Amino acid sequence: VPPGALARIARDAVLAPFRLAGWPGYADRGSSYASALSASLGPELYGVLYEPYAVKLWGLPGERIDVEQARRRVSADNPWKIARRILGRRAPEGRVYFYPRHGFGQIVDALAAAAVGAGALLHTETEVSTVDVCGRPPVVRLADGGTVRAGHILSTLPLALLARLARPQPEPAVLDDARHLRLRAMVLVYLVHKGGRWTEFDAHYLPDSDTPVTRVSEPANYRDNRSDDPADRSVVCAEIPCSVGGDIWVAPDDDLADLVMHALSAVGLPPVRLTAVQTRRLPHVYPVYETGYAEHLMSLQEWADGLTDVTTLGRQGLFVHDNTHHTMAMAYDAVAALGPNNRRDEAAWAAARERFSHHVVED
Ligand SMILES: Cc1cc2nc3c(=O)[nH]c(=O)nc-3n(C[C@H](O)[C@H](O)[C@H](O)COP(=O)(O)OP(=O)(O)OC[C@H]3O[C@@H](n4cnc5c(N)ncnc54)[C@H](O)[C@@H]3O)c2cc1C
Repeated sequence: VPPGALARIARDAVLAPFRLAGWPGYADRGSSYASALSASLGPELYGVLYEPYAVKLWGLPGERIDVEQARRRVSADNPWKIARRILGRRAPEGRVYFYPRHGFGQIVDALAAAAVGAGALLHTETEVSTVDVCGRPPVVRLADGGTVRAGHILSTLPLALLARLARPQPEPAVLDDARHLRLRAMVLVYLVHKGGRWTEFDAHYLPDSDTPVTRVSEPANYRDNRSDDPADRSVVCAEIPCSVGGDIWVAPDDDLADLVMHALSAVGLPPVRLTAVQTRRLPHVYPVYETGYAEHLMSLQEWADGLTDVTTLGRQGLFVHDNTHHTMAMAYDAVAALGPNNRRDEAAWAAARERFSHHVVED
C-alpha cells in the first residue's frame, strides 16, 4: 500500500466513530457491501483492498453485493480489529490451529472411513439426475441409471440445482428464483515447485485487480511437523474465481500456469521452479449475494421446507459461505433432528438453522 494511501487509511480509522454514528456527510452504512464496509473500514482501505477483491471473488462491484455478504464474509470489519490481528492480539482460539499432517483432505478421508465403518455405502463420482419425492420412500435417480431409495434424503446439492432436479418440479416462479441464485466457479491451479519450500508463508492474498488470481497457498506451510513431506519439492495452489464456460474456465493448463507465474512476478513473489501443473475446475464454489438475492433465496427455502422427506443443508444446500466445521455442525444437527420414523422434527431443525445464521467465515 503506497504511503499516501496509508495516511488516508489512518485518517479514516480516526474518523470511523463519526461514520459509524451516521453523522451527516458520511456514507450510508447499510444498504450494500460497498457502503457497509466503506463505513466500517473507511473508504480508502475499502477501495484499495476490499473492493477489487470483491470484484474478483464474486464477479460484481461492491454496490451490487448485498450487505449480508459483508456480515458473513468479513470478520475483521473495522481498522481496530485488523490492527489487533496484525499485532497478534486475537482470541486464543484464533491464534493456533491444527492442520492434518497429510493435508486438509485427511479430514474428509477420516469422515468417510468413519461413515463406512458405521455401515454407510459411499458412491463418489456419481451424478444425481433427479430427486423423486412423489411418493414414500423418496427415490434418488442417478445419471448412470441406478436408483437409491431413502428413508430421508439429506441433500448437500446446490439448493437451486435441487429445485431443478426435484420431481415433482416446483412452481415456475420458484424455478425462476432458482435461476437468480448464482454460484461462482473456481479453477484451482497446482504448480509443483522443484527444490523444497517455495516461501515460508502459508498463503498470499492478491487483491490487485491486474490479476484474476485471488489467493496462492503453499499447503505444506500450514503445518510445522514436516517429517512426512518430500524435501525436494513443494506444491503451490493458486485460486482463480471465474464463471463456468468463461475464458479462465476453458483455458489450457499451461496458459493458466503462465497466468499464475505472471501474477506472482508482478507482486514481487519468488518464481516457482515449475516441474508440473495440475488443475481442478469446481463449478459451484461461492454463493453470490447479489442485491435482491434474499427474496429469491427465501422463496426457494420455503419450497424446500415443504419437502417432508428431504432436508437441504451444507454450504451449497443453504447457499452460505460456511467453513468445513460449520457444515459438519449442520450435518450433526440434521441427523439429530430426524425422528424414529425418518421425519424431520421441524422445531429442532428451525432452532438449528437459527444457530447456523450466526456462522461467520474464518480464514
Ligand atoms: C478455495 C476454497 C478454499 C477453502 N478453504 C477452506 C479452509 O481452509 N477451511 C475450511 O474450513 N473451509 C474451507 N473452504 C470451505 C469448504 O470447502 C466448505 O465449507 C465445504 O466443502 C462445504 O461442504 P459441503 O458438503 O456443504 O459442500 P460441498 O463440499 O460444496 O459439496 C457439495 C457437493 O455436491 C456435489 N454435487 C453437485 N451437483 C451434483 C450432482 N448433480 N450429483 C451429485 N453430486 C453433486 C459437488 O460435486 C460437491 O461435492 C474452502 C472452500 C474453497 C472453495
